[in-house]
Amino acid sequence: MPPGRSVVAAGTSRYQASCGSYSIPAYGPLAVSKPSVLVTRRIPSSVLTRLEEAAEVELYSRGDLPHEELIARIAGKQGLLSVVTDSIDRAVLEAGRDLKIVSTIAVGYNNIDIAAARERNVIVTNTPDVLNESTADLTWSLMLGVMRRIVEGDRLVRRGGWKGFALDFMLGSDLRGKQLGIIGFGRIGQAVAARAPAFGMRVAYTGRGPKPGVDGEFMPLDRLLSTSDVVSLHCPLTPETKHLINQTTLARMKRSAYLISAARGPVVDEAALVWALENRLIAGAALDVYEKEPEIHKGLLAFENVVLSPHLGSSAIETRTTMIQLAAQNIIAVLAGQPPLTPIP
Ligand code: NAP
Repeated sequence: MPPGRSVVAAGTSRYQASCGSYSIPAYGPLAVSKPSVLVTRRIPSSVLTRLEEAAEVELYSRGDLPHEELIARIAGKQGLLSVVTDSIDRAVLEAGRDLKIVSTIAVGYNNIDIAAARERNVIVTNTPDVLNESTADLTWSLMLGVMRRIVEGDRLVRRGGWKGFALDFMLGSDLRGKQLGIIGFGRIGQAVAARAPAFGMRVAYTGRGPKPGVDGEFMPLDRLLSTSDVVSLHCPLTPETKHLINQTTLARMKRSAYLISAARGPVVDEAALVWALENRLIAGAALDVYEKEPEIHKGLLAFENVVLSPHLGSSAIETRTTMIQLAAQNIIAVLAGQPPLTPIP
């Protein structure tokens, strides 16, 4: 073990994960005075090392940290490095009386009770911007995947169903000349829009109001839904956006249009989407996120014109590494008494 390394809960440390039952000897006053940080997932060892220089790190490396265990482990911690599936609710914040910072490795923070954190002066940070391009790329993959029937075609080939070239075989939809309607024209929505000229698509967007100096036509939600050939969701999950895509809004879309979502699952009412697909109210859908991940509405699995990816928006190795580094830097800064790099607004 390198000198100066501090590991508190050997039961969950990296050493435990790799060495079985490594027992850590008692530490001197220097180590004891370090702040404590709970990390709820395995992170790259380079980032873990940086964090261990600044804090006693308790690493949970066994996958999903059960909520009750999170509550038990948060006591006495000043920092929490968490992921999108950790519910940082009032109970967690109450148990974490010493918390100074909750740093989530994500841009969305709908899993954190922001009001409860503010009441306790707990700083909440996220990882904006660094995942814009990866998430925009994934969005275009979904769009191309469903409109050009790539995933459906792959399934056909694998089951031996391809009988050869034919002029009218598996015809999809062109993107060129179509309208891409973006709901939530923020960092990721605009990164998606920036790729539209390369595919010959014009951009429309909706949100809380027009944004000066951006390429794209602002329109109210209703008009965007009824005129777009692709509707792509990039708004955060809030009480206002929950089930924003429902029977009413789906019925307003063109029958030839596609729905894409790389936002958050509950923005789409999955039962309503199944209903719209059954009634051929839209041409298809491609989703990266789901209402009750990792469960997916069974009805969606039946459609060939639906592409389902398992929450891959930011999951490119370079981007994930940068996100984890940024999230750790936020903790290191705050525990050193400095301002966070990327506090939530
Ligand atoms: P952002 O920069 O804050 O953009 C969100 C945009 O949504 C803002 O422009 C906001 O408007 C707009 N908005 C808020 N409420 C709205 C509503 N009711 N109707 C329409 N638009 C609304 O956030 P971002 O960095 O682009 O990230 C967007 C979301 O993507 C995140 O919250 C996260 O949930 C999701 N995401 C998913 C993945 C994935 O793996 N699939 C990866 C990254 C992010 P204002 O400009 O007026 O505030």
